[in-house]
Amino acid sequence: MKLWKNGVFHTMLTEQEAKYQMATNQGVIVGFDQEIEHLDFDEVIDLKGNHIYPGFVDAHLHLLGYGQKLSRPNLKNLKDKEAVLDILKKSFNHEPLFAEGYFECGVTKDDLNQISSTYPILIRHNDYHSVTANDIVLKKVKALDSNGFLTEDLAEQAMHTFPMHTNQVLENLLKKSIQALYRYGLTGGHSDDLFYYDGFYNTLGVFDKVLSQMPFRAHLIVHHMVLDDYIKSNRVFLNQTPYLQLGAVKMFYDGTVSSKTALMKAQYKDSESYGMRIHSKETFEQMVKKTRLHELNVAIHVIGDQGLVEVLEILKKHPPKPGTYDRLIHTPWVDEKALMMIKNMPLSIDIQPQFLSSDLPWALGYFSQIPRYAFPWKSLLKQGVPLAGSSDAPIEIPNPLLGIHAAVKRQSDHDSKVYFEDEALTRFEAISLYTKGANFSTMDPYRGYLKQGYIADLTIFTEDLLLAPIEDFKKDILYATVINETIVYKKS
Ligand SMILES: [Zn+2]
Repeated sequence: MKLWKNGVFHTMLTEQEAKYQMATNQGVIVGFDQEIEHLDFDEVIDLKGNHIYPGFVDAHLHLLGYGQKLSRPNLKNLKDKEAVLDILKKSFNHEPLFAEGYFECGVTKDDLNQISSTYPILIRHNDYHSVTANDIVLKKVKALDSNGFLTEDLAEQAMHTFPMHTNQVLENLLKKSIQALYRYGLTGGHSDDLFYYDGFYNTLGVFDKVLSQMPFRAHLIVHHMVLDDYIKSNRVFLNQTPYLQLGAVKMFYDGTVSSKTALMKAQYKDSESYGMRIHSKETFEQMVKKTRLHELNVAIHVIGDQGLVEVLEILKKHPPKPGTYDRLIHTPWVDEKALMMIKNMPLSIDIQPQFLSSDLPWALGYFSQIPRYAFPWKSLLKQGVPLAGSSDAPIEIPNPLLGIHAAVKRQSDHDSKVYFEDEALTRFEAISLYTKGANFSTMDPYRGYLKQGYIADLTIFTEDLLLAPIEDFKKDILYATVINETIVYKKS
């Protein structure tokens, strides 16, 4: 039995409730304050007045993708073509070169051909839906007539021309990723990884192995392309071990705004295009029906306002098993109709508050007509939709404090203006995105609060998140990360 003393325990059951000492045993919270006075303890941990929250969870990210990003040249935040080419030239080592995080600034295949015309070079755009590649790659995907810019399916094919990682490499990527997440106070994450690497079985095997060595609450959503493997594997839905769950079936309805592939009600500016459906409506409906046949839930990527209406219509036709919930991922652009339809539907939404600060105002410039609601978190909460906080790392930095900051402030990183202020969340609501909210889809009744019988996963800060100056959310105020009553990271 462990005693955690001298802390301020924010239970997150209500905004005000706080406790000052806590007992845990075998990974479970035993009780607080007076309830535990009579107990004997083997270990006492002095929390030195710091502030303890239920373990923070990121509701949508890519654990292996994040590990890759930490291991590859990163072009994020470079807005100057010469600076991008400079990093690529320095990183090129007479072997295939794959760089991450590129923001469009005019690099073409000719630039990349100059770095190498014998080894494949590919730079992945920060939205993960497009790439720019040199001729070696373009030849393999029969796109030599393009200027090197590929989106969606072709982009996917181009990435698949790169050599596969061995299991050993994947294990290292996963470990690297989890270590970095501990540093941000994360005790768990809902990840989409099972399709993109060496097949369902091998990739899942990597998770089984690493999670038996390193505690982290991983919830893996299952890409529809590996659904058959999942069914054949006879793995149960949700709980595999205390650290591993298998969740809903991931599918894409549309693309992204920066690739002009998100499906919008109005055309993109200076364009005939409304965006695209990744699959036809009919095919998509068949995909949903198939998951229902196996009594599974869906996790749908949807960004455009028209895309959202169509997704909701399909889900209304094919609802999930009673008592279970589907999840939508992203939904930044919402029209009046979708907001009305969504009320009382059995679904939750995985939002990325940092997308607002990263994507505004430039995203608004893509539209001929700005959708009725933009990142409408308050309106969605008012409609009773459970919201979960996430970073979509490697797209954003998986630091929940940055997500909370964005959800509360709604301030652009580019022009420092506040956008659509009436949709701002309170601090308590914003913190809840990463505690109660991000645990919603685990369907585990013992996660998300500090409460007797709940898991002893804790995220500990040096400041009270309700009272700290908002600027401090951009500083390193994490004190420690605790999973299953074990300290996995502590500030030195
Ligand atoms: Zn994602």
